[in-house]
Amino acid sequence: MTYVFAPPSIVSISIVNKEERVAVRRIYWLVRNYAEHAKEMGSTGLEPPFTFLKPADAQALVVAESGQTEKVCYPSLTSDFQHEIELVMVVWLAGKNISLANAYQHVYGHAVGLDMTRRDSRLNMAKQGRPWCIGKAFNHSAVIGSITPINQAGVIENAEIHSQVNGVDRQRSKISELIWSVAKTIEQLSTAWESQPGDLIYTGTPQGVGAVHLDDLLVGSISGLSSINVRIAPPSPLNT
Ligand code: MN
Repeated sequence: MTYVFAPPSIVSISIVNKEERVAVRRIYWLVRNYAEHAKEMGSTGLEPPFTFLKPADAQALVVAESGQTEKVCYPSLTSDFQHEIELVMVVWLAGKNISLANAYQHVYGHAVGLDMTRRDSRLNMAKQGRPWCIGKAFNHSAVIGSITPINQAGVIENAEIHSQVNGVDRQRSKISELIWSVAKTIEQLSTAWESQPGDLIYTGTPQGVGAVHLDDLLVGSISGLSSINVRIAPPSPLNT
């Protein structure tokens, strides 16, 4: 097979204590999966979460290796660039209409993630009833740490989720606060899309989202998982 131009490279994520990597297929994102965050966004916290997608290419995804500080470039078209710390699930087995009881068998592992957001664009498009991908799906908008397989991560529902900017607490909650648990999320998404190995599911952010600025150091952690460190870098001509 030959191509008119070089096909894009496979995007992959490291695994804690393993040489093998996970090749990424799709990235799904839940919205308003913590009641307190839904309330800070002006919602009641009683509605079910909903879903969007971001591209899974090498420009959108930033892999933040343990112990390193990765660059996230400040994007164009915003003056309110915000962080959202999220638990990420990595799908192992394909499935459609997966039952709650079988859901965990479809999960390979977990990682810490960031849903970077042009908050002003996101809200402005929503206000007009238009798709808000411009607020969510741009280069460097998806950050993920090294993956911990579920047999090494402990019981993820007991974990604490936490973000800091320049050493100051921003977000702190517990995975047990999720409206849709890990298993419920697998069950619900599989009614709409057939899951496939390498799918990532970002499970939504707790309360305390806020803006980051040039040179800020953003640290995200979930107990039992590899934490992530991100420095906000100047806009890049490529980072549109
Ligand atoms: Mn989010």
